[in-house]
Amino acid sequence: TRFVVGLTGGIGSGKTAVTDRFAAAGIAVIDADRAARLVVELGTPGLAAIAKHFGPGILDAAGWLNRAALRRLVFEDPAERAWLERLTHPLIGEEIARGLAAATSPYCVLSSPLLLETGQKDLADVLVVVDVPEELQLARTVARDGNDAELVRKIMAAQLTRAERLAGADIVIDNSGTLADLDERVAELHGEFLARAELARE
Ligand code: ATP
Repeated sequence: TRFVVGLTGGIGSGKTAVTDRFAAAGIAVIDADRAARLVVELGTPGLAAIAKHFGPGILDAAGWLNRAALRRLVFEDPAERAWLERLTHPLIGEEIARGLAAATSPYCVLSSPLLLETGQKDLADVLVVVDVPEELQLARTVARDGNDAELVRKIMAAQLTRAERLAGADIVIDNSGTLADLDERVAELHGEFLARAELARE
């Protein structure tokens, strides 16, 4: 069995900062966001189904998905959102399974903003939550994206609350310190996961 570390956290909590560090240690990182983009790329059955359902207006002139338009549509209409999720979640699941199967490192990390909200959590042997206080999450996201705080607050409100995420965690990474602190914490967990992956092989 391959040992899978599921990693999640709210917007701007530091998921990428964490996975960069596991990747630097030679660990395969499977990114659910990337899988979600792949399944609606040009020429995919996923994109064809979306264009058929919403009409060609959902595509740009070159035939690519207009993500902003789709986001607006499903944000305003829960039924359309449910339709889209019924289509994409299984496709994303297959894409993630392919990534996990192809990984050759001693264990791998599945990073997903929706790990706890979807069946993706069932793919993980251990659930890790990257945690920061909301105000720091907001400040770091605004600094990174240059978006206004109101928009970031809206996105945060649509995600699980900090308490809900923490309730789903086997392991918490406190990312309220410096990036040097994060180096140390990830190195510590890397050692722990190597040992657990070794045990899981027996
Ligand atoms: P998203 O959900 O939007 O993809 P994320 O969880 O991947 O976000 P990151 O992009 O890793 O979050 O981090 C958000 C921002 O905060 C980035 O600009 C990152 O460089 C910065 N950051 C992350 N951790 C720290 C830290 N410990 N100290 C200072 N800055 C940090």
